[in-house]
Formats: sequence, structure tokens, C-alpha cells
Amino acid sequence: MAEMAVQGSARDRQIEHAPALPPLVGDYESRRRTFSWEVARSWLQGDEAGHLNLAHEAVDRHASGPLADTVAIRFLDRAAPTTELTYRQLGERSDVTATALRLLGIRPGDGVCTLLPRSPELYLTVLGTLKAGAVYCPLFPAFGPEPVVERLRLGHIRLLVTDSLSYTRKVAPQRASLPDLEHVLVTDADQSGEDGAPEGTTAWADALGAGETAYDPGTFAVAPTRPDDPALLHFTSGTTGKPKGAVHVHEAILAHHVTAEFALDLRPGDVYWCTADPGWVTGTSYGILGPLSCGVTIVTDAADFDARRWFRILQDERVTVFYTAPTALRMLMRAGVGLAREHSFPQLRHVVSVGEPLNPEAVVWGLEAFGLPVHDTWWQTETGAIMVSNFPGMPVRPGSMGRPVPGVDVAVLRQGADGRAEVVDGTVRVLGPGEVGELALRPGWPSMFRAYLDDPDRYAKAFADGWYLSGDLARTDADGYVWFIGRADDVIKSAGHLIGPFEVESALMEHPAVAEVGVIGKPDPLAGEIVKAFVTLKVGHEPSPALARELIAFGRHRLGSVAPREIAFDQALPHTRSGKVMRRLLRARELGLPEGDLSTVETSVSTSASTSATTSAS
Ligand code: ATP
Ligand code: MG
Repeated sequence: MAEMAVQGSARDRQIEHAPALPPLVGDYESRRRTFSWEVARSWLQGDEAGHLNLAHEAVDRHASGPLADTVAIRFLDRAAPTTELTYRQLGERSDVTATALRLLGIRPGDGVCTLLPRSPELYLTVLGTLKAGAVYCPLFPAFGPEPVVERLRLGHIRLLVTDSLSYTRKVAPQRASLPDLEHVLVTDADQSGEDGAPEGTTAWADALGAGETAYDPGTFAVAPTRPDDPALLHFTSGTTGKPKGAVHVHEAILAHHVTAEFALDLRPGDVYWCTADPGWVTGTSYGILGPLSCGVTIVTDAADFDARRWFRILQDERVTVFYTAPTALRMLMRAGVGLAREHSFPQLRHVVSVGEPLNPEAVVWGLEAFGLPVHDTWWQTETGAIMVSNFPGMPVRPGSMGRPVPGVDVAVLRQGADGRAEVVDGTVRVLGPGEVGELALRPGWPSMFRAYLDDPDRYAKAFADGWYLSGDLARTDADGYVWFIGRADDVIKSAGHLIGPFEVESALMEHPAVAEVGVIGKPDPLAGEIVKAFVTLKVGHEPSPALARELIAFGRHRLGSVAPREIAFDQALPHTRSGKVMRRLLRARELGLPEGDLSTVETSVSTSASTSATTSAS
């Protein structure tokens, strides 16, 4: 078990944490001084002519050699026996998949989508697509017809891999409006034609069978892609509005690999579980590519969230590194620490989170549940890889996202009136520690997005004075830890204060009845905006006006004047499919405004689960 010492209380504490194994990449300070992407490039295999293929770098390097017979992926499924693929098998099967795609006419640069749960076909499609030089784009398997069709259209997708039911329900009715979509492969049919794959589709088994017949390991060649050729298309989560398609290139693998080592501490011998939905960028960068490049055994589960099952997987699979999201952690917390303690996790070495603010409460809960603090990481679809992280071996400051990845320059820029970085005569101003502004990154790491699909103006607007502007507000402290304040669009301006929803949410989370909170600004004639909190209660607590008053008092005690003035109870806060609380939707509903693009909402849009127990403080 790791050693640690907890000092201070609540969010001001610092958790000194010595991992069970020394961190793979050593001391943060010296890494930060000495790391360069140029030197890191020597890890890439490529070829003499300068070609580089992401799937080759991630998998083929291990498909022969010492890790060839190590399990690369273990597929758990509530409804089916566990299956496995070794690195050798994964290397070969993805060659066969690439061959099958080529036989269907897929050429370098073509778009290939999956609408699949975590199944072998998903992983083979990702790797086969990349080996064929085509561009891979994941879709959330739970998407309805509209978001599926919209993204197929926007991405000019030529081939889709899905199952019969998803196809007939979500795609077939609008197939005529998708002229680019030439092939649909369905994974649950044995054969095409009668009683097999639905009309207009091909059985995956048939396509792969043809690939198998044509495949010759002696002559098969991975597509000779260039480091800057498009490889991945990821739509953003759509938290703040319409999803944007971020384009990533083959050399992104270098950043996936380096950050998987530095921040996730992955090394051969690890059993690694990433719970991210495969439709989201985390599902690709850290669900597939980064970890494979590190030679770990990935565990993946087809079933939906279930607290007991999750603890059992961590225990029985002897997971060593666990990458998950705040919303999942909050659901585990909701189930109570007792459930965690019915299990034991002596192998678990590193617990990591991404996607939205990680409340200090959740960091500290990790100590109780796992004996390990949860390590927050920050990044975006656009950045392709982790940019800020609480690194293994580095003291964890609960509530902080950690420190910049070596090789990445991070700054906080002065804000203008609209909350975004202020640009005067083409220049921005970098702020010092303690000051709040827009979080910006100096481009230059390999997984940086190279375009928003078909939207060069929007891409251009994401940069100023040589910085990439993240749209998030943050501050740094004297030691260079980065503290998240909120999305520029979510920040509340109340009576002359700028209030980050995260701080208010985290404070309320410390109340024993509270499981999750979403905070918005509600227009107010006097204050400009007042803070309103939507609260989900833990099992065993009931909404009541008295509890609402108690929470208001609790907030005021912790936060003073920035505390919420109104509380509403809501047992079904809206989330994006990547697990983020959708504050813009809470706000739109509150104000009776149009709800905007709802394609990525996870929770049912009905507010029936919310109670009308809204209580205001005078
Ligand atoms: P859209 O750009 O479509 O509005 P999105 O920004 O939610 O959606 P993603 O790229 O999936 O799409 O998410 C990145 C964002 O998630 C970050 O900009 C940040 O706001 C939030 N985020 C990610 N990790 C963290 C973290 N550790 N702490 C706080 N916020 C985080
Ligand atoms: Mg975004």
C-alpha cells in the first residue's frame, strides 16, 4: 500500500503521496527542465522515408518481441464470456481489418466511423482504419438518430461500423441524405443477405472473411502516412454549444504515449482500466492508443455503470491504474464508502480523473475508498492529450488540476469584458500567480488539433499572439499548480464578483447530504446575477425546504458572499455523454430560453425528476 500523509483540512490540504512503484518518469522538476518533443521523437519507429503511422506505432511495435504474447485487451461483458487479444493477435487482426477496408475501396483520407459499444470490432476498426491511412471518428453508441446522422454528414463518412439495430433505428431512415456513406458493416450478422445483415449493409464477418483471404503477412504494408496526415476526427462534447470536429494527425501518438507514461504512469505489466465512453476523445487517446503504446493490458467492460460491478472489476482484474471521470467518482461516492471497503485493491497504484472539475471532496474520498488520492488531469478534445496533471509522486493539491505536462507551456491571460483573453494590437498579457484569466497553451505538442473540420474561421479564432485559447478560466499558484475556475461562458458575475461555479459546487459537495451540484447565474436586478444551485442528494436524504435552507446557510458559512442564494433539488442533472454537468442547459431551462443543441445530453431531457422545492435566501 502506498504511503501518504494528509495535512491541513478540506481543500487547503496537500496530500503527500508516495506511489507503490517509483513514478516511471522520475522527478517532475527535472523532467520539466530537460524534456523536449524533439528528443522524445526518437521513440517513434516510422521509416527512413519519414512515414509515420499511428496504429503501427501504438501496436505493431509490441506485436513481435517481448510483449507479443501479453494480453493487449481483455473484454469483459456482463452478457458474454470474457475474451482476450494478445498484442500479436491485435497486430494481425488489425492488418486483416485494414485489408478488408481496402477491399471495400476505403482509401487514405476517407472517413470511417464506429457506433459501437466496447467490443473487439471497435478496437479493430480504430486500428485497421489507421493502418489503411483512413481517418477514424468515434460516435457515442447511445446517440440518437439526429446526432449520428449529423456527424456522419459533417464528417463525410464513407464507412460506418455498427450493429443491425442501431443501423435500422438510427441511420437507415435517413440513409438517402448521406451520399458519402457507401458502406455500413454490421457486427451482429453472420452473413450478408437473407436473414443476415439488414438491407444496405454488409456483415462484418463477411467483410473480415474477405480481408482474411486476401491478407498476406509477408506483403501487407501499413499505409505510408506522413506525420501531419489527418488520422482522427473527434467531435467535442458539446457542453457549450454545437459540437465541433477537431482534426488530429498521425504524430499525435507521440503525445498520447508520452502523457500516458508521465501522467498515467503506464508501463508494461500494468492492468489498466479507462472507463471513458468510446465515443469521446478520452476513449481513443487513453482508452486505446496511449495505453497500447505503453504495452499494458487494457481491461474494458461492455456493461453500463454499476457501483458494485465496478469495485469488483477493480478487485478481480487486479487493476493497477484506473482512469475515470468526476461524475463516475461521484456516483461511486453516492453508493457509500462501505461498498468500496467490502473490496480490496492492493494492486491499485494510481487513480486518475478527467472531464470536468474534480471536487476536493472526491480527491479525499479516494483516500478512504482506495487508499489513494484521485489525481486530476486537464485537457480537451482539441489538445488531443493531457496538458495539465497531478503527476504520480507529486504532492496532490485537492481542487487543483496539477501542473503542466513537460513540453507544454501554459499561461493565464488577462480577460477582456467578454471573459475571454483580451487581445490589444495583436498581443495578450500573461498574468502572474493568483490572477484569474483565460487558460492558454503554446502550440507545439504533437497531438494539437490541426483544424476544426470545414470551419477555418473558428479555428483561427482559437489562437491569439501565438497562444491557443482554451475557453476555460483558471489561475496558477506560486508553485505553478493550475486551479480551474470555470468555462469562460459559465462564469457568474454577481455584485462585482466573478464566481466560478466549480468553487461553489465543491463547497456544497462537502455537505453530507449532497451527491452532485450544478451551479448557474440567474439574472437579478440588483446583483446582476445571483448564484443558483441545483442539487442531487445522496441516497437516504429527501428534499425539503428545511434542507434547502440548511444548504444555503452551509454555503454562506463556507463561501461568504459568493454562496448560492437559491437551491433547487434535482435528482437528474443533465450531463453530456462524456459526463459533464451541462450548466448551459440548467440555465436555459431556468430562464425559459431555447435549449440549443441537445445532441450530447445524457440524462433524459425531462425535468420530471426535479422537485419544485426551490428555496431562496433573502
Ligand atoms: P464543447 O467544446 O463542445 O463545448 P467540451 O469543451 O465539454 O464541449 P471536451 O473537449 O470534451 O468538450 O472537454 C474539454 C473541457 O472539459 C475543458 O475545456 C474543460 O472545460 C473541461 N475539463 C476537462 N478536464 C477538466 C478538469 N480536470 N477540470 C476542470 N474542467 C475540465
Ligand atoms: Mg470545449
